[in-house]
Amino acid sequence: MAQSNRPAPRTLEVIRSEPFTRNMLRITLGGPGLDDFPEGQEGGYVKLTLPPLPGTEKPTVRTYTIRNQRRTANGQEIDVDFALHGSQDEAGPATEWAMAAEQGQAIMVGGPGPAKPLPEGSAWYVIAGDMAALPAIGVNLEQLGRDARGTAYIEIQHEDDRQAIDCPPGIEINWLVNPTPGEKGELLASHVRAAGWPEEDVYAWAACEFNSMRALRAYLREEKALGRDQLYISSYWKAGDTEDSHKVIKREDAEATGA
Ligand SMILES: Cc1cc2nc3c(=O)[nH]c(=O)nc-3n(C[C@H](O)[C@H](O)[C@H](O)COP(=O)(O)OP(=O)(O)OC[C@H]3O[C@@H](n4cnc5c(N)ncnc54)[C@H](O)[C@@H]3O)c2cc1C
Repeated sequence: MAQSNRPAPRTLEVIRSEPFTRNMLRITLGGPGLDDFPEGQEGGYVKLTLPPLPGTEKPTVRTYTIRNQRRTANGQEIDVDFALHGSQDEAGPATEWAMAAEQGQAIMVGGPGPAKPLPEGSAWYVIAGDMAALPAIGVNLEQLGRDARGTAYIEIQHEDDRQAIDCPPGIEINWLVNPTPGEKGELLASHVRAAGWPEEDVYAWAACEFNSMRALRAYLREEKALGRDQLYISSYWKAGDTEDSHKVIKREDAEATGA
């Protein structure tokens, strides 16, 4: 039988839960289950594996970014930042789990999966994303060479969702407030467009809600003709769909657009 290369999910413990910004909650995971976790996985993703939803048998799997990874006297820890969206009764299972997580609680976690960093050496970077992509954007900007230049557009739910990012001084961060994530699918693309296009070698990185991604893709890939080596673009979630149905839609979209 074919063997999967995927590492088996490991059991981790909640070390801490702390509000990070107004609509973002940071959960720190650790415990002996992380002892053999490879180092340097910031920006990569993990698969939180939660109990099956009522009426289903398969576990509920949700994808989250490793925002920080560190070694402490007690072993390794990773931070996972959860964007909190919707009212309590609209929150999906991962968000609900995070809001109720308590120190010492166990969770099954698959991965890590690979990060999508910004390649060094581009003259200008264009970065766009929403709160689901903010952990990945934070890691990417912190890892970028200090002489990098460019602009980042980050959609947040509230002014108080701005966060400190140790970003190269030549990267300007524009925080765009949208209290209703999933609506205003043109917001990110319209700001990227309005900024004009530099006469330089550009690398663009974008991750956000599906319809926002499509608007950005129409500009970056179709109008600006950025090739695969100049563009990373991905939808991280889709308004009105759970991660399970978003995954199917994302696959169909990739097949239809040759992505
Ligand atoms: C590679 C990758 C890395 C990711 N990293 C992170 C991360 O670090 N932090 C993070 O918060 N998210 C991250 N996401 C997005 C996250 O996986 C989804 O938001 C996921 O759907 C949340 O699961 P849930 O169980 O809370 O909601 P689901 O059960 O999937 O969905 C329930 C409802 O909530 C809505 N919804 C889902 N996500 C959002 C959102 N962000 N804003 C508003 N409404 C939403 C859905 O449209 C649906 O109506 C990442 C996704 C990918 C692909």
